[in-house]
Amino acid sequence: MKHLIANWKMNFVNLDAWLKDFDLNNISEEIQVVICPNYLDIKDFYKTTLKTHQQISIGAQNLSSETEGAFTCQISGKMLKNIGVSYSIVGHSESRLQGEDDETILNKLQTAFHCDLIPILCIGEDQHEYSKGRTEKKIKHQLTENLFPLQNLSNNILIAYEPIYAIGSGIAVQNEHLEEVSLLIKDLVRENLGTDFTLIYGGSVNSESAKNLAKVDGIDGFLVGNASLDPKEFANIALSLEQ
Ligand code: PEP
Repeated sequence: MKHLIANWKMNFVNLDAWLKDFDLNNISEEIQVVICPNYLDIKDFYKTTLKTHQQISIGAQNLSSETEGAFTCQISGKMLKNIGVSYSIVGHSESRLQGEDDETILNKLQTAFHCDLIPILCIGEDQHEYSKGRTEKKIKHQLTENLFPLQNLSNNILIAYEPIYAIGSGIAVQNEHLEEVSLLIKDLVRENLGTDFTLIYGGSVNSESAKNLAKVDGIDGFLVGNASLDPKEFANIALSLEQ
């Protein structure tokens, strides 16, 4: 099963118009499509997709590390689950930039599992780290702090490799780099958790770059920002995953 995930971030999307133009008929059933709208649109989106596009799952762009209580402004995993959410992004670089630290991300992963949500853990180096040859160090650090303390992991998890310099830049990483990092992540997770997981890539994926990126062994899907706002473009990315 491959995954194609849309992160709509804080963009206005006309749900009905988007769904009307998103043609699932041409997309293989072997691809799980997940849409992450803003929190306010989740309920409407869930109700509409139940009627028109049952194969689409809903994801949240984040969740609280707490399950319930006096946490002003937070949205719990249980609340998300109650309105039809099945997945949640955790540790997106844009959330980390706003002050989310490693311990919080670890707690969010734990909470996601507890609430029966499938987490999509985002990791990746920034431009400075990449140019100094510190990609491996950064990936090891993030996996060690965010994921490896969760021993006996029996639930589903997706790991999205998202190099920060590729996000929103219009330039996806080279396949050689993606291959190297994909092997690194797989080896580290196998050694430290011995568990199965799905590895996906995110960072300027569009219908053009997807054709090439989909050739990388071990990459089982994409997390897509900008290009997912256009339903036809997003559907074309799915076609690359079928290769
Ligand atoms: C993202 O923000 O996770 C992302 C992949 O964005 P974009 O596709 O716009 O680079």
